Amino acid sequence: MNDCLFCKIVNGDIKPDLVLENEYVLAFRDINPQAPEHVLIIPKKHIASLNDLNEMDAPVLGRMYLAARQVAEICGVAASGYRTLINCGMDGGQTVLHLHLHMLGGRSMHWPPG
Ligand code: 5GP
Ligand code: ZN
Repeated sequence: MNDCLFCKIVNGDIKPDLVLENEYVLAFRDINPQAPEHVLIIPKKHIASLNDLNEMDAPVLGRMYLAARQVAEICGVAASGYRTLINCGMDGGQTVLHLHLHMLGGRSMHWPPG
C-alpha cells in the first residue's frame, strides 16, 4: 500500500502532529481543521474504507473509538462534547482511502451535516 498517504504516516515516512499512538491506532491533527480540535484516528492496518471492513476487523473499530475517547480527553473536549464520524465513498465525502475516524470538538456542531 505504498501509495496510501496514511500508510506513509504509519510507516513514519510523513511526520504527523501526533496526539496518541498505541499498538493498533494512530491519532493526529487534521491538516485542514474544521473545528478548534480536529483529530483523525486511523488503524495502523490499511483498510480502505468502511466498505472494506470484514469480520476480523471488528476489534479495530473498537480500538479506534476507544482512542477517540482518549483523544477527546487529551484535547480537553470530553466534557463539553464532540463529534465522531467516518466518511465513506464519494457521496460520503471520503477523500483519503485509508479508514479514519474524525474527532471534532471545541465548538457547537450543526445538524444535519452538509
Ligand atoms: P475524508 O474527507 O477522507 O473523510 O478526510 C480526510 C481528511 O484528511 C481531511 O479532513 C483532510 O484535511 C485530511 N488530510 C489530507 N491530507 C492530510 C495530511 O497530509 N495530513 C493530515 N494530518 N491530514 C490530512
Ligand atoms: Zn493506507
